[in-house]
Amino acid sequence: MIEIKQVTKKFDDLVVLNNVSFTIPEGEIFGIVGKSGAGKSTLLRCINRLESVDEGSIIVDGVDVGSLEGKKLREYRKNVGMIFQQFSLLETQTVYNNIALPLKCNGYKKAEIDEKVKYLASIVGLTDKLKNKPRELSGGQKQRVAIARSLTLNPKILLCDEATSALDPVTTASILELLKDINKKLNITIVIVTHQMEVIKSSCDEICLLEDGEIVEIGKTDELFLSPKSNLKNLINEQEIIPSEGVNIKLYFPKTYTGDSLITTMARKLNVDFSIVWGKLERFKDDVLGTLIINCSQLDAQKIEEFIQKTDVKYEILGGER
Ligand code: ADP
Ligand code: MG
Repeated sequence: MIEIKQVTKKFDDLVVLNNVSFTIPEGEIFGIVGKSGAGKSTLLRCINRLESVDEGSIIVDGVDVGSLEGKKLREYRKNVGMIFQQFSLLETQTVYNNIALPLKCNGYKKAEIDEKVKYLASIVGLTDKLKNKPRELSGGQKQRVAIARSLTLNPKILLCDEATSALDPVTTASILELLKDINKKLNITIVIVTHQMEVIKSSCDEICLLEDGEIVEIGKTDELFLSPKSNLKNLINEQEIIPSEGVNIKLYFPKTYTGDSLITTMARKLNVDFSIVWGKLERFKDDVLGTLIINCSQLDAQKIEEFIQKTDVKYEILGGER
């Protein structure tokens, strides 16, 4: 478990993290989103103690990482793997040697290294690339090498700083699948920092939104995205084009919602007319959730609201006249 407690971090007079508090449960995939400059990378660097905090504390599995020094700090760092947007591989070395590097630096024996490198290469799907150099690999394959390398010392936590930001959407999806797989198979807590909303939606259990060094939203991913507040909405940059006449009602179908005929049942029972003006289905980590906007007359809106209130479906009245 990672507990961030009232953390403040400054670079000279610039406050980069301001009284940030949240907890990441063990085994979870947690997302930190926010615009460029929000303080995301700094927060990750505080977690792995590349940076120290000015106020507050970061407690990992009961240990205040700010108090660690020397050997204990080195041991702690082994527990925290990290991957980056730019892969950071040694270009002149083979995939094998890149993955083996942390093991060599930590004095492992040749046979142990060999076994571990081959095992990790199989996990990331690069068994046939061990003799290749990074320049002979695609972006996705390079990130797979970096992931394998980050896992060599059996970390409990994997920090991913914009790890998919340089990859195309298909490759991004495959890397996220790999991370989800690693999270499950090796029970590693994963912290994903990104500005890509798709990354968060498809892989994170919980997210927090960081703005100018402050947490402005935090919660379960599907709940936050299903009815985003203005801060998250700004970041999603999604604009529904809706009629200016009548009443627009946005319906959020949560994963607990099992009835599949709400719309037709409602129309029949209430004897009302409405148009469906916007809708989408989205895949979250393990679920598909839906949003729909209907447009109706002011007269019918109240009846519809009363009907929806009796279901699990959440709703919001958007603009329009009331
Ligand atoms: P993000 O990862 O969300 O884009 P960063 O954590 O990299 O944001 O940076 C947050 C702010 O802190 C930025 O204004 C950045 O310029 C500043 N910053 C980051 N690292 C340093 C540093 N080592 N020295 C001075 N300012 C820094
Ligand atoms: Mg960053």
